[in-house]
Amino acid sequence: MKGGALISVDQALEQLMLFAAQAPITAVEEVPLADADGRVLARDVQARIDSPPWSNSAMDGYAFNLNDAASGPLPVSQTVFAGQAGEPLLPGTCARIFTGAPVPRSANCVQLQENCEVLGSGKVQMQGALREGANIRVQGNEIGAGEPLLQGGSVLSPVALGVLASQGIYRVAVVRRPKVALLSTGDELVTEGEVPGAGQIHESNRLVLKALLVRLGCEVVDLGIVKDDPGLIRSALEQAVTADLIISSGGVSVGDADYIASLLRESGELLLWKLAIKPGKPFTFAHFNNVPFIGLPGNPGSSLVTFLLLARPSGLMVFWKCRWVRLLSRAICLTSFPSPA
Ligand code: AMP
Ligand code: MG
Repeated sequence: MKGGALISVDQALEQLMLFAAQAPITAVEEVPLADADGRVLARDVQARIDSPPWSNSAMDGYAFNLNDAASGPLPVSQTVFAGQAGEPLLPGTCARIFTGAPVPRSANCVQLQENCEVLGSGKVQMQGALREGANIRVQGNEIGAGEPLLQGGSVLSPVALGVLASQGIYRVAVVRRPKVALLSTGDELVTEGEVPGAGQIHESNRLVLKALLVRLGCEVVDLGIVKDDPGLIRSALEQAVTADLIISSGGVSVGDADYIASLLRESGELLLWKLAIKPGKPFTFAHFNNVPFIGLPGNPGSSLVTFLLLARPSGLMVFWKCRWVRLLSRAICLTSFPSPA
């Protein structure tokens, strides 16, 4: 293949992204928060309630009104623990208060207990600097009811789950998981429980790709290892009609046992084939019976690199409607890197 005929990685990615953007998964399902980690939020979510829902104490100490404190030690008129409602503050008194307890109405300052002296009379002398609002977490200061909380299309993180739970939102609408059919092709490949015969190797790509896909939130349908036989490959691909995407490894090059490109030409449309990338040149993107198809080269390094650079970002677009940021990093290889070609 002459250099001029190769498609650049940028061009390929652009084409994949364009294609992906046209066919996002839109089906939505509602799941309990406990099962929502890593799922894609289907729509924007607004805050239901103010957070904090009422002004509360950030410290263990005493709550009072600054005007009252100016006139000397204050008697304690109530004790408020977290989980209690408390009463409005009686004028000229303070309230014993603990972290998370509602600040009684009329109190505008909490002094931490380390800065309060309880006198023999039981009255409390406030010490140190006193400032309006000190040690009070004001109602709605983190977020107000109705304000935007999370953006549709974002991936739910453990922290996002916490934010939703804090709002009393325990079920969320998420985008359906993408269904990816995965197969490896090659007469030389054996897997667990099989003894490699002459010329055979233990297969590894499917395991790597499956783990990566699961981490991306996909449901993987494992079609196993398929021999280099056009009939067998065709029937494996035909099992994948309900998948959102087929990913295969191996068989996309130009060897006599590489049947995938010709199969795709017969029963689909070959949209991209052969990129200016090493490793990974035979990367293929196509349709097989209207199902998007990504053919990764079989070489484990090539399949990993092309999956990460091309399949992953475009998959994210198709399935998750997620924005994807391309991360480039420059690295220096500290060992020699022999290449036979
Ligand atoms: P292919 O792309 O089918 O020409 O395969 C390229 C090279 O990768 C060959 O040396 C294969 O034996 C090897 N290979 C292909 N598929 C796999 C696989 N699933 N796991 C490990 N090695 C593979
Ligand atoms: Mg092969």
